[in-house]
Amino acid sequence: VGPASGEGSEDALGILSRVFGYDAFRGQQAAIIDRLASGGDAVVLMPTGGGKSLCYQIPALLRPGTGIVISPLIALMADQVAALEAVGIRAAFLNSTLEPYEAQMVEQRFLAGELDLLYMAPERLVLPRTIQLLQRAPLSLIAIDEAHCVSQWGHDFRPDYLGLAMLPEAFPGVPRVALTATATRATHEELTQRLRLEGAEHFVASFDRPNIQYRIEPKASPREQLLRLITAEHEGESGIVYCLSRKSVETTAQWLADRGIPALPYHAGLDAAVRRDHQERFLRAEGLIMVATIAFGMGIDKPDVRFVAHLDMPKSIEGYYQETGRAGRDGQPSTAWMAYGLGDVVSQRRFIDQSEGTEEFKASARAHLDAMLALCETITCRRVQLLRYFGQDGEPCGNCDTCLHPPQTWDGTVAAQKALSAVIRLDRERGQRFGAGHIVEVLLGKESERSRQGRHQELSVWGIGTEHSDREWRPVLRQLVARGCLEAVGDYGVLVLGPAAGPVLRGEETVQLAVDRAPSGRSRRGAA
Ligand code: ADP
Ligand code: ZN
Repeated sequence: VGPASGEGSEDALGILSRVFGYDAFRGQQAAIIDRLASGGDAVVLMPTGGGKSLCYQIPALLRPGTGIVISPLIALMADQVAALEAVGIRAAFLNSTLEPYEAQMVEQRFLAGELDLLYMAPERLVLPRTIQLLQRAPLSLIAIDEAHCVSQWGHDFRPDYLGLAMLPEAFPGVPRVALTATATRATHEELTQRLRLEGAEHFVASFDRPNIQYRIEPKASPREQLLRLITAEHEGESGIVYCLSRKSVETTAQWLADRGIPALPYHAGLDAAVRRDHQERFLRAEGLIMVATIAFGMGIDKPDVRFVAHLDMPKSIEGYYQETGRAGRDGQPSTAWMAYGLGDVVSQRRFIDQSEGTEEFKASARAHLDAMLALCETITCRRVQLLRYFGQDGEPCGNCDTCLHPPQTWDGTVAAQKALSAVIRLDRERGQRFGAGHIVEVLLGKESERSRQGRHQELSVWGIGTEHSDREWRPVLRQLVARGCLEAVGDYGVLVLGPAAGPVLRGEETVQLAVDRAPSGRSRRGAA
């Protein structure tokens, strides 16, 4: 097979049907393949499930030489290669799981021109020994998968990706393509620059996933809410449940199993063999639920995941989009559901405050978190919000919770002023800072050991909020945090005034607040 000429796309179509058994290209696949087959560079931003793999696999087959695929997902390489071999493609991988003699065999096949595709992790590629090897035989192209891993501000940063900047010098004239499903404008620019893809053509697919229904509801008793979602809408279907901590992964999986719902745990603290076993069972079985930390999912290609549930809020919209994107890869209706509460904000802030990062890193992490909070609290279409974050426009979708049941809003200006005043009085007159629970007690004038000890009854704000109940006040505080009027600090969710409080306190800004919908899983009243 020679390099593609003017009829390149026909050759590509031939390979698509003969090798892969599909009869048409999707979206921009054909254009991307043409670009690479004719020797140009490309940057491809395409959502998960969009079909990125064919974009480099087919041009690698069209051009002479071996296509190098760089991926951080060592654990998946064996499966990817097996899938390619099954359709007759000569593929192999080089990574630390191979015995030395196995690696040597792969190297020999590469040098003999017997490989169409060779997968490896970036840390392997940047070794001088590997570069020398790859310079001894022709390369058809270099594909950099999960290219957002080069972004230092992203949540998947892999330092070894930075070393890939040397590729154009080491392999001049070899077309390169960077692919990712994480596509904020900032990541896009950063990866283009860091990977030295200035001359690349950019292919940006729509990030809309119309078959996914986005829903975010207040967290009351999250497991009950999850159980309700499963039994009412997704009985017997496959799903992924994301939790923040390993411990909650295990207890949640057990809790579901105790209720007759087939669920398995997955997190990085489990034995590699157990993880592999659970992953394989999830991929093969129908109706199995994987309860996991975000360690699970990258590169997982299971088309019929019917729901992705978050019991804890992700730390960024990028993360949320990637994780929810694992639902409905087959295009069938699917649910992205999340339970979210003030506690999520508190714990995410704490992670950032206590992280080792530089101030610049922390500021970036806080900005990512704020965008996520805004998505949680939005009273307009979630899909529009999500797409706007990725720099794309859209119309209200009619298929997310806020479109289907527009939240009722009320003028919460006075309530906001009262809550902020309570925080100020406690801080200024008593030198004390509290979490949401006690602030609400002060607003309601509800006596407790704490209020007696602090003589809070004597404060002017004592009992000024009795027009609302405890259950009404909590969402007020949560929304004030999301708007930056309050900030959660420290380990115990202590609330202090935020930068946006001033204009509200001075009456320069009104505050529209949403009325919380009753959570779907609240079969009995939680302790709240
Ligand atoms: P991504 O890497 O973008 O998440 P994949 O390359 O894994 O997506 O493709 C997702 C699924 O879509 C795979 O099962 C793949 O075989 C299938 N697919 C890709 N391109 C086509 C096509 N042109 N026609 C039909 N199915 C396709
Ligand atoms: Zn909508």
